[in-house]
Amino acid sequence: MYQPLTSLTRDQQLEKLQLNNDNTIWDMIIIGGGITGAGILLTASQAGLKVLLIEQQDFAWGASSKSSKMVHGGLRYLGSGQYNMTKDAVTEREKLLNELPGLVSPLQFLMGHYKYQFPGPLVFNTLLTIYDWIGGKRNHRYINHNIADFHAPGIEQSKLQGATQFADAVTDDARLVMRVLQEAQDLGGTAMNYLSAEQLIKTDGQVTGIRVADQVSGQQFNLSAKVVVNATGPWTDKLRLQVQAKKAIRPLRGSHLIVPSWRLPLAYSVSYFHPEDKRPIFAFPWENSTVIGTTDLDHHHDLDQQPCISQNEVDYLLAGINKQFPQADISEDDVISTYAGIRPVVSNHDNEQSTKPSDEKREHSIWNEQGLISVAGGKLTTFRLIALEVLTAAQDYLPSMDLKALRNQRLFKPVNDDNTNHSLSQSQRQRLTSLYGQHYSDLLKHATTHEFKAIGNTNTSLAELKWSLQCEMVVHLDDLLLRRCRIGLLLPHGGAHLLDQLQPLCQTALGWNDVVWQQEVDRYQDMIQRYYGLPKHNAHLAKDDELVTENNHRVTKDSASLVNTLAS
Ligand SMILES: Cc1cc2nc3c(=O)[nH]c(=O)nc-3n(C[C@H](O)[C@H](O)[C@H](O)COP(=O)(O)OP(=O)(O)OC[C@H]3O[C@@H](n4cnc5c(N)ncnc54)[C@H](O)[C@@H]3O)c2cc1C
Repeated sequence: MYQPLTSLTRDQQLEKLQLNNDNTIWDMIIIGGGITGAGILLTASQAGLKVLLIEQQDFAWGASSKSSKMVHGGLRYLGSGQYNMTKDAVTEREKLLNELPGLVSPLQFLMGHYKYQFPGPLVFNTLLTIYDWIGGKRNHRYINHNIADFHAPGIEQSKLQGATQFADAVTDDARLVMRVLQEAQDLGGTAMNYLSAEQLIKTDGQVTGIRVADQVSGQQFNLSAKVVVNATGPWTDKLRLQVQAKKAIRPLRGSHLIVPSWRLPLAYSVSYFHPEDKRPIFAFPWENSTVIGTTDLDHHHDLDQQPCISQNEVDYLLAGINKQFPQADISEDDVISTYAGIRPVVSNHDNEQSTKPSDEKREHSIWNEQGLISVAGGKLTTFRLIALEVLTAAQDYLPSMDLKALRNQRLFKPVNDDNTNHSLSQSQRQRLTSLYGQHYSDLLKHATTHEFKAIGNTNTSLAELKWSLQCEMVVHLDDLLLRRCRIGLLLPHGGAHLLDQLQPLCQTALGWNDVVWQQEVDRYQDMIQRYYGLPKHNAHLAKDDELVTENNHRVTKDSASLVNTLAS
């Protein structure tokens, strides 16, 4: 048998929580299982705390599986003079590249320079010189020939003067969250999915615990802690309004299209400005596909309903990519899937009307109020630093906690790769050690070489699906196909053709009978259509959501264009 992630199944873990909750006082309970909560769980576990993380849905269900997947230093922060922020992010990027080389990978970027377009090559290269200097290596160059023939075939050539190539990194955001959670659990931290915080419990005005509800059984019970951390991203205000009155979060939606790489083969992440509003947008190679992103607009819908792309966003992204790559002629027929995420942007609501979404700062904020520490904003990239700041604030409640040793130590234990049983390539081994950490050897021991063959066009193998089913707290089919691996995004119709093969695996590992299996398939297919497809199935959003461009100019579209065909 595999050694499971938690050494207990989810049901056993839940039973343990319920049985012991009368006499257990956790040092810290973290609410929210995105990258922010996971990072805090890991650093708190490294600090030796007795710590529990709860997530109302699946791990990484929120922004942390729906980001643009860049582990980046934030060139735009440097452009707006935020040197320290860029320095922190670049340092963290380098740390992640070093510690998780198969999960956080270098990605080269390319930006074409067009006549009369700002920033021109001189300004851009000056910024990049500082950027590279912070990262400790020169990693950019100006290209003035062969751009359309070699570097970015099909790129718009009218007024093209040259291009700049520079370096950042890319990841699989949901797997990054899983890796962080796994490392924390190996150190004694506990993480539970489908367990929601319903209500803060207060004693003499101080938060001393939470009332939680198991989303699977419906059971509710109380948990006590010396300090509670609210790491619920876009949902931050919901819990925080129980200790103070002012809202802080402006939920901003960003959506993406995924097309097969053969329709738009890219060697670089290509950055360009949208012709309508001049916002910087991009297309990048990811997991053998091409991702086109992203938008930035107020999200007025219920946060508990999964976000999805609107028709106006589809049109906007297609207009952008077809201006940059006119020969590619990308249309809705090329789209394999779409996804939309909600950025937990901290905003001064007094100025919300006058501040354009893309002008909102992306820094994180931390509030320490009556035993509740809330944290929101920030990036995937800086989760370790955010976690250290949260733990520093938590010292008010946990005075004996010593953080000194944590600041410079490795986040992830190095993995010993001396297994020679499998003829895996160097890149496969690097990927698997980064994704599964100390469990890599177990994964290898219990699968044949044949089971490591990639499924379809993805990087995922059968061995990994089996591992996830047994060891990674999969509750629903969508947990497996949308977040433990990305088959649901990368294969047409969410990988529907694989379902028959998956049925016996899921039923054996999760004890699902035929009725439950069918319910899971129906739930998954409905989700794929509504939230990961084109807006045919989410017309509620498409109708009332107009895309507000940078000029606050409303882009309205012919309602006939609301009717689309699902990508084949
Ligand atoms: C479109 C988009 C593109 C982005 N691109 C990048 C990028 O390229 N690079 C980068 O570094 N960053 C990027 N970001 C930002 C980054 O993804 C987010 O800052 C980060 O994922 C936020 O993580 P989080 O854990 O704070 O929030 P989330 O990931 O949203 O997690 C919060 C979790 O809390 C849970 N929760 C809420 N209420 C409760 C409750 N009552 N009980 C239990 N659980 C609860 C939610 O279900 C959710 O899973 C992007 C974000 C978006 C949306």
